Amino acid sequence: MVSPGQLYAVAIGVLLLVALGVCVPVLVRIVRDGLERHHKRRAGELKRYTDDEEFDRGPSASLETDPAGRTHVTCRHCGTVNDAGFTYCRRCTTPL
Ligand SMILES: [Zn+2]
Repeated sequence: MVSPGQLYAVAIGVLLLVALGVCVPVLVRIVRDGLERHHKRRAGELKRYTDDEEFDRGPSASLETDPAGRTHVTCRHCGTVNDAGFTYCRRCTTPL
């Protein structure tokens, strides 16, 4: 006869194994990417963090003026029209 305690322990064990199976590949990829960038910086291929292509996406938005004369910024990431004074897109939070 299986007691509720044993059933609980088996269920927790299975959930832990599933969680490990899901997160370990992601963590391995994060560590590999970090080590690869670290080696590139050490080798002089990347002098600054902003030389990293991951961060070199160019300006994410441009200032535009509509026919009524109001300036606004259109996010290049999601296309949302933001007020000219906004620093971040109000929809996707990409820096403008
Ligand atoms: Zn956006």
